[in-house]
Amino acid sequence: MAEDSHKMERMKEIRDEVVACEKCPLGQYRRENNFLPVIGQGNHDAKIMFVGEAPGLNEAKTGRPFCGASGKILDELLESAGIKRDDVYIGNILKDRPPDNRNPQAGEIIACTPYLEKQIEVIDPKVIGTLGNFSTAFLMEKYGLKDKIQGISKIHGQVFEARADFGGRIIVPLYHPAVAVYNANMKETLINDFKILKNFTS
Ligand code: URA
Repeated sequence: MAEDSHKMERMKEIRDEVVACEKCPLGQYRRENNFLPVIGQGNHDAKIMFVGEAPGLNEAKTGRPFCGASGKILDELLESAGIKRDDVYIGNILKDRPPDNRNPQAGEIIACTPYLEKQIEVIDPKVIGTLGNFSTAFLMEKYGLKDKIQGISKIHGQVFEARADFGGRIIVPLYHPAVAVYNANMKETLINDFKILKNFTS
């Protein structure tokens, strides 16, 4: 089977698993509200993958990640860095929207992140831009960088090389784009941090 169709098959399997998932109450919440799971979107051969926190209302209605206010900021940041959204893959720590956009809970993260881990395995990105504290902490721990985890205000824009025996993976912690929705002054910081990612597009 050609590489592309193999990847497509694997991604479909992951999607089917998420749709049927009953490992935490968020799947039930999704079904009760006629929401969609937000599996992820983008290029399955992406060199850059972004991992956000969890879908908001717009995302749960459309099934697409970062399509609301935070997504508008993310689009601006990508454009400012000269990166096409079509060239990257965008996923989240949680695939379903938590009620009232509350923070992900520990049990939900444990239940949902195996799907993200499978997506990372399929896409095999060179670099993962972690958007916000939840994604940063989860992925830095996964890649043996637990001792370097700090709040996003301390480590945003730094480049961490993962200690992994399956080849290199680079983690770049980034502020969640939502910070610029509430505080326009933060956009400059985000724009600067996103410039770093351009180095990994070739
Ligand atoms: N915020 C996130 O973390 N993810 C989305 O998909 C949308 C908003």
